[in-house]
Amino acid sequence: MAIREIRVKGDEILRKKCKEVKEITPKILTLLDDMADTMYAANGVGLAAPQIGILKRIVVIDVGEGIIELINPVVVETKGAVIGDEACLSVPGKSAQVERPEYVKVEALNREGKKIVVEGTELLAVALCHETDHLDGVLYVDKALPNTETIWEEEV
Ligand code: ZN
Repeated sequence: MAIREIRVKGDEILRKKCKEVKEITPKILTLLDDMADTMYAANGVGLAAPQIGILKRIVVIDVGEGIIELINPVVVETKGAVIGDEACLSVPGKSAQVERPEYVKVEALNREGKKIVVEGTELLAVALCHETDHLDGVLYVDKALPNTETIWEEEV
């Protein structure tokens, strides 16, 4: 278990498309543990592997209801649309408004390699979309509504 360095906007790795996980090896399990440690240490609600420099389709999310680990997640269904404030550990000190579905259904594998289905509304729906976007090199700022950015911290 270890905390890894979070890559920030401007780092090219955040713009690359991640590869599917073909086999869940001990290394993948360590990666899942490290991603959770890194997310919690940064007080985030989600983290995608490219944010720590790993180009694999892996995401961890915790919106306050326990850890959700997703390997090769795919959004299979969405409903509705809501606009809400969004931020990202890779875009420190800022937030902006983004339109997201109000309901999202994702299929993925868990750490045992079993197929799981996760359904979310509100913050979980946002996190599911935001984190799976990272796997295709997409950041929330790409989808932010114009003139909605808030800077809530001096950049260091
Ligand atoms: Zn993010």
